[in-house]
Amino acid sequence: MLLAIVGLMINGALLADEPLSVVADFEGASVRVLEIDQKSRSVSFMPGGDPKRGWPCWWCFRIDGLTVGETLTLRLQGSSSPVEKEKPLAPSWAMPKYATFSTDGKTWQQTDQGNRQDEWMVYLFKPKTQSVFVAWGPPYTPLAATTFVREISERSAHATAVELCRSREGRPVPMLHVKEGERTDQERFGVWVQARQHAWESGSSWVAQGFAKWLLSEDEQAAWLREHAEVFIVPVMDVDNAATGNGGKNALPHDHNRDWSNKPHWNEVRAAQQMVGKLIDEGRMDVFLDLHNPAPGDPSFFYILPSEMLKEPMISLRDRFISLAYARISKVRSEMQMSSKPRMTGSSYHPLWRQISSNWVSIQGNSHTVSLCLETMWNSKDSTTTGYQAVGANLAATVSEYLAERPER
Ligand SMILES: [Zn+2]
Repeated sequence: MLLAIVGLMINGALLADEPLSVVADFEGASVRVLEIDQKSRSVSFMPGGDPKRGWPCWWCFRIDGLTVGETLTLRLQGSSSPVEKEKPLAPSWAMPKYATFSTDGKTWQQTDQGNRQDEWMVYLFKPKTQSVFVAWGPPYTPLAATTFVREISERSAHATAVELCRSREGRPVPMLHVKEGERTDQERFGVWVQARQHAWESGSSWVAQGFAKWLLSEDEQAAWLREHAEVFIVPVMDVDNAATGNGGKNALPHDHNRDWSNKPHWNEVRAAQQMVGKLIDEGRMDVFLDLHNPAPGDPSFFYILPSEMLKEPMISLRDRFISLAYARISKVRSEMQMSSKPRMTGSSYHPLWRQISSNWVSIQGNSHTVSLCLETMWNSKDSTTTGYQAVGANLAATVSEYLAERPER
């Protein structure tokens, strides 16, 4: 009798408190587990990732063995791996105010605000399942890009799923090509949108997806843009680092956004350069947008070349585009202190400043080319799949509004 009760209690305890375990064997996963405390139900960890493949600030993994309704504690430290000058990266890059979680791997929500305690960032939340995905921000994997591009092209007669190229590790790089109606290519504005030259900046892919969804929507301005332009959208440029959960930024020998030289190292950059180069040769490289997430507290939205390095009409057209974009996008970013003042990416910004994609396009482009790097803040309540896609939709509406002011081809 006594033994039976003890047995039940043990069984009862086991049922109530299954051991927590961490799983990171899927696309885009990254973590270095420091400790799993079964008693306090907490997981202590830092981002995984090889610093040679970029700043180790991205983390994403699954926790199994939860009891429904229990409070889970995530204790996050910055990566201790040395990056530049043998020092680790500032931990703030890895520490969003709100962590992201999902109980189905598809719908992503934010936790409550984390608490900084010395070197730790601590997030508490109560998932209502036995298993939960947690991440730095809403993940967007190369497979998600492939699926999105395929599905939207199946739904819309005006969109085609294409492959930009294969990566150095042989992964496909999906691209969406959009145009509608009878105009010849020569009669169309050229629009190029790319995200994730830095693999950890997952929010930028959601911005690209929001752009694509709006472009293929029923909105009249979207239809106008499809009829008057040819639009190329690449949701994930650095597919290899995005797939393997590496940061990408400052990867060796240099990252994708320092690779826009005469001899690119990365296949995606070479392929994008060829297609953008063709638009430039045809005199219709009208709008080039390179999408990113910025440094933790950076409110700048646009990164551009200083005007003294450019000639008219490029400067006025770019400033017009920025003011239209700011008017729209600042409305959908409620919490963010978004700065209307762009940041300069000239010679004092980085030794490889000429090899930054938006700078390369400004320098090589047509006299009327608008080429911008657009940063969407990741450290706010708006940094959700919905918030990012709203930025993308408003960015696409800006492109339509801006091109409608330009002389027709
Ligand atoms: Zn970036």
